[in-house]
Amino acid sequence: MIIKKPKIELDSFNDTQNLDVKYGLNKEIKYCKKCLMSNQRPNMCPEHLHTIDTQKATIKFNDDYCDACKLTDNKKDVDWDKRDFELRKLLEKYRSKDGSYDVLVPGSGGKDSFYVAHKLKYEYGMHPLTCTFAPNIPTEWGKHNFYNWINAGFANYLFNCDNLIHRFITRLSIETLLHPFQPWILGQKNFPTKFAAKLKIPLIIYGENPAEYGNPNEKYYDDMLMEWFACDDLSKISIAGIPIRKLRYDYSLKENELDPYIPLTFDQFKKADLKCVAFSYFENWHPQKNYYYTVKNSDFKPSPERTLGTYSKYASIDDKIDDLHFYTTKVKFGIGRTHYDVAQEIRSGDLTTQEGKSLINKYDGEYPDRFLTEILQYLSINKDEFPQKYKFFEEPVINQDYFDDLCDSFRSPHIWKKTNLGWVPRKSINDES
Ligand SMILES: [Zn+2]
Repeated sequence: MIIKKPKIELDSFNDTQNLDVKYGLNKEIKYCKKCLMSNQRPNMCPEHLHTIDTQKATIKFNDDYCDACKLTDNKKDVDWDKRDFELRKLLEKYRSKDGSYDVLVPGSGGKDSFYVAHKLKYEYGMHPLTCTFAPNIPTEWGKHNFYNWINAGFANYLFNCDNLIHRFITRLSIETLLHPFQPWILGQKNFPTKFAAKLKIPLIIYGENPAEYGNPNEKYYDDMLMEWFACDDLSKISIAGIPIRKLRYDYSLKENELDPYIPLTFDQFKKADLKCVAFSYFENWHPQKNYYYTVKNSDFKPSPERTLGTYSKYASIDDKIDDLHFYTTKVKFGIGRTHYDVAQEIRSGDLTTQEGKSLINKYDGEYPDRFLTEILQYLSINKDEFPQKYKFFEEPVINQDYFDDLCDSFRSPHIWKKTNLGWVPRKSINDES
């Protein structure tokens, strides 16, 4: 089972009536009139079922507006005092009488997880335990903020997986799905639930519900969907887009090496009586406000430089692989990091649509050269470090040309065309009236 060098078929990008559409995306590209989000944006799905053949469900549009804008509009009618009452009632049910841990807050010590843990402890009188699935390649400022979280009065369990295995699986994931973040996402989803079950702390409180970004929200409850964190049949899951039995037999991965990426079963989830909720359901969630709160209550530091691919300095800044991750979402869906940030900030009222457009034009899809050398080294499976694993790759060491070819092989012809100037989107936000 050798991973071959990427191949790109340029013919499929020639202008024709029937351009190929990858990943089950919408053939007609459309942008929300208000927040500019694209209808190519995939919804959150159970990551452990994700393979290259997965047909993605995408954000719904009602005429010219996306579901996330609809949710923002609906929020105007929410009675927040009532929601706060609901939260207090929920916490009352789980609050420990003897001061033992009663709620688990997963996160990295970024502005959102800091905010949630701090509010739960100091405003709502809970006894939170925090837990973290370690980043792939931590940034210096991410490390500072992680310890800042602990220094603000929180115990934390930090899980580090075997880094050679994590690098190998991350390499498989970029080859099969162009998704360098997927192994980390799997770990970050599955570690807290398994850990909570083990410690018998049934309540887990996250920051945001993905519905904030427009996942299907016919009915928006406080509960996070169990399907995101658990599965009905362990033999059906895939990691890095590869079925688990193949990882065991073709790539010689052992049970303990696969364990960090494997979810609970539905039965285990129910038996542990886990309750996973998002704090964002209970208050008028505003990420910028969380940032100001965190700065005011601790020594939290934004990144010293603008985050590559966007204009901001304080959101999701703890992992160097983030740069690559958002570059790959631009390649696959035509949506880069600025585009995601702008859409959220327009909906929160922090930017106008026009300002958002200018920022997207300026920064979206920026080439991830900031940490590229270090990241490519991380993704390279060289003979010295991986005496058993390098043979699985036609070209075990990744250089920039290899990375660029790999990206190009994941471009969808309905989104991109190749011109003398390089790859150009067929329809940009500027084409909307
Ligand atoms: Zn919108």
